Amino acid sequence: MFPSLLKSTLLAIALSSVTAFAAPSLSVEVKGVNGSTKDLKGDAARVVTTVTNTGDSPLDLLNTPTSILSDLPTDAFEIINLAGGVPKFRGIAVKYAVNKAIESGDVTTLAPGQSFNVIHDIAKAYNLANTGQYTIKAKNTFVVVDRVTKKVEVIKADSKDLKVEIVGNGVAASVSSLSRRATFLNCTGEQSDFITAATTGASTLATEAASYLRALDDVEAPRYTTWFGNYSESRHDTVQGHFDKIAANNFEEFTFDCGCDKENVFAYVYPDRFGEMWLCPAFWAAPMNGTDSKSGTIVHEASHYTANGGTQDFAYGQGAAQELAKNDPDRAVYNADSHEYFAENNPVLV
Ligand SMILES: [Zn+2]
Repeated sequence: MFPSLLKSTLLAIALSSVTAFAAPSLSVEVKGVNGSTKDLKGDAARVVTTVTNTGDSPLDLLNTPTSILSDLPTDAFEIINLAGGVPKFRGIAVKYAVNKAIESGDVTTLAPGQSFNVIHDIAKAYNLANTGQYTIKAKNTFVVVDRVTKKVEVIKADSKDLKVEIVGNGVAASVSSLSRRATFLNCTGEQSDFITAATTGASTLATEAASYLRALDDVEAPRYTTWFGNYSESRHDTVQGHFDKIAANNFEEFTFDCGCDKENVFAYVYPDRFGEMWLCPAFWAAPMNGTDSKSGTIVHEASHYTANGGTQDFAYGQGAAQELAKNDPDRAVYNADSHEYFAENNPVLV
């Protein structure tokens, strides 16, 4: 028999190792404001999303803009009506400074059993023109940051949806087609100069990327496979199409708005509003060239425009983008950061 002190020590070790290896577990639920499941009005369709730590260890969840933890109007919901119709996304696509966010602890911390509520106005992100019965589900992917190692792990939450009548606002999503001269809104002179230099850099990157792709004759070329995974002709042609279009964009006709103050965000666009771009604090802190640069950010954002191919944000940062290339090349060729890193080509791959 063990002395009782030793026995309790062994028990403590056993318990702590159970805690250390317990799988993180989350749930996410969508409700109407005040718990209401009655009508949501299309022009201000506010819902409450509740994230709950259903596991037995505290969790630090990264406030990724593509998750419902952020109140930015990103594509963070799956919405479908009774007839199977999906309202068109008309919100913003963001470039997120994922490493900076991890380092600076841009996380939502939840103790076991603890919940966190975020209110979203889904009318800002989706075209709710049509009245009808809808199912609203929060996207359930979350990034857990290890407090000590800063390593990240992607987990799926159990998701509880909301069935509700949406009273449409009858207004179709506006798609503006701008063709003005270069315009700077809320920018200092210095900021305007940075943007001009960055757009010149972006045009060079896109033109070079398009040429590389056109000349590509080695299906195992590391530069291609690192960012876009296994070669296939159709995936290659998808990316080629994106860079051909971006290279043809005339940034001098764009409107740039420097009035964004969202920390750990480089920039965002509304994909259907070609030629309008918002620049945020991480953009000003970025180098002009190299990884996560100002020039590369313009390429990233330009790739989001529907008119340029409409990429999304499936993975942020070089590590996650490389994983995506390995595991899901079909998504990699529609991932904005993958385009940016391929174009920046830093460190240089051939
Ligand atoms: Zn983006």
